[in-house]
Amino acid sequence: MNYNVVNRGDEVSIQLMNTFHDLIQRQGLTLEENNPDIVLSIGGDGTMLHAFHRYKEQLDHIAFVGIHTGRLGFFADWKPDEVELLAELMGESARQNDLRIVKYPLVEIQIMTPHGIETQLALNEFTLKGADATLVAELHINDELLETFRGDGICISTPSGSTAYNKSLGGAIVHPSLDAIQIAEIASINNRVYRTLGSPILLPKHHHCDIYPRAGQNIVLTLDHICLQRSDIVSIRSMTAAGKKVKFARFRPFPFWSRVREAFIGYERL
Ligand code: NAD
Repeated sequence: MNYNVVNRGDEVSIQLMNTFHDLIQRQGLTLEENNPDIVLSIGGDGTMLHAFHRYKEQLDHIAFVGIHTGRLGFFADWKPDEVELLAELMGESARQNDLRIVKYPLVEIQIMTPHGIETQLALNEFTLKGADATLVAELHINDELLETFRGDGICISTPSGSTAYNKSLGGAIVHPSLDAIQIAEIASINNRVYRTLGSPILLPKHHHCDIYPRAGQNIVLTLDHICLQRSDIVSIRSMTAAGKKVKFARFRPFPFWSRVREAFIGYERL
């Protein structure tokens, strides 16, 4: 089994990466940057987002795992002092050819421009915002107008991204076994003249949403940590990516709801 490591670039993460290389190569795994079976992210959730985008063309055969070198991450759930245990469990599963994985849905967006269609994937979410003024856009669901949106922007998240930006916007936390995307408003304008639904909504996998920004607007588009400024967008279609999921390697159980509790609540008992 081949592996690679993506690290945050700080001293602690680099040191941990070097320790991991020693440990895992003793377990018989081979370093392979271009075509790994497992990618270990060392850093925070942002590091995992970088790792995902680096390897997003190879999602069918790569499983990700994360060690956090800051506070507990949602994607990076192993602690630095567990690196030895992680390497042992990884080695064992490589020898037995038994890699346990969970598969989480992704959001796919199709950006229509006068020059053609670009397709992009996100692990957490994509957002659309006005670059220098209020975003004005029609939002259609399954080819029917739902509303004309005015405000800061629109966030469309995956279930695993539901605990990220979406959560700050009052969106629901969605279990990643559900193939769905969530649309959440970012500071919509609502008064006697302008009206939006005001509630986050969940779309099942066979539904799609089209956003048509008012012509000529400067738009900021974010895909996870990536930020693009565009003025050529005619519309953006978003939906649950068909046939593409991200795989996370699980060397021990850590259920999603325990992760939610650990990340946001803590563990106080009566
Ligand atoms: P970053 O790595 O500093 O991430 C920002 C925060 O989001 C960190 O605390 C990180 O742990 C957390 N996070 C990321 N993904 C998460 C997830 N799936 N569940 C729970 N927490 C998660 O910054 P970055 O590298 O630019 O990361 C980009 C991400 O930051 C975006 O995908 C977006 O979700 C998030 N973000 C959040 C807000 C907000 O909450 N107001 C605003 C902008 C971006």
